[in-house]
Amino acid sequence: MATVRELLIEGLERLRASGSEPARLDAELLLATALDTARTAILAHPEVAVGDAAADRFRMGIVRREAGEPVAYIRGVKEFHGLAFSVDDRALIPRPETERLVELAEAEVRRRLLEAPRPLDGPKLRIVDVGVGAGAVVIALAAVLRRRGMLDEVELTATDVSPEAIALATENAVGHAVADAIRFREADLLPEWEVRRWDLVLANLPYVRSDAMATLPRAAAFEPRLALDGGPDGLAVIARLLDLLPGTLDGAGAALLEIGGDQEADARALVEARLPGWSCAVERDLGGLPRVLVLRPPSGDTA
Ligand code: GLN
Repeated sequence: MATVRELLIEGLERLRASGSEPARLDAELLLATALDTARTAILAHPEVAVGDAAADRFRMGIVRREAGEPVAYIRGVKEFHGLAFSVDDRALIPRPETERLVELAEAEVRRRLLEAPRPLDGPKLRIVDVGVGAGAVVIALAAVLRRRGMLDEVELTATDVSPEAIALATENAVGHAVADAIRFREADLLPEWEVRRWDLVLANLPYVRSDAMATLPRAAAFEPRLALDGGPDGLAVIARLLDLLPGTLDGAGAALLEIGGDQEADARALVEARLPGWSCAVERDLGGLPRVLVLRPPSGDTA
């Protein structure tokens, strides 16, 4: 039987040879998954002997990673905003930069609820996550609002054009015990089946330029193209959502939309063209890159 240390070295060498980075972290995560334990546990006990079945599981994971599959899909789990999400090829793997969108959404909700608390029987703050994918944004938001005792004052909806993504997001909502708090709807962007005035629209839509798809890390080829490809200029899907905002966003509401780190100027120009008079701020992510558009209707606009 091989030890933890021996298997790690074997996996590390194979991943390095295949050009897969970060090889050490990936090998550690894959071995921890094969052993159904935490990465810290294997780092703490490199001398432990590993059973043959677990060693086989580890080697199968290494083979998949050598072929370029994302570690998150091999493990079936990805951490986001302190929560573990089930992930598979039904949806995009949640990215750390998207945590910024959750933080901004939380701040917006708190500000609105502190300004005007919602009576229990009155209208709630209406929030929609457009293009929910695996559910990371709306579920992380629901979890944080529950911790703050604010979940009863909001009404959460999540849409996706992909029924597979809705199914995965629903599983994650069940896993985090917020399924009762979120209505999932299959829809292209904002649902047209009901007229609504959203207080807060959140979206991490596809925004990679079609011609840049081939330059993404190899792992992205395993993710649904629908979740990444934003058309020729990367902003085609976001532009369609912008066109829907005047008819659907409440006059005092806001839309928080994730964009690519190199899209600030293009996104601002797009907002100016499609939503004249709206305010547009750009928030940066932890890496200092422009990441979230914050859009508000002209004041006094109730359309
Ligand atoms: N940030 C992702 C990437 O660069 C793109 C996510 C998206 O298109 N919404 O891989």
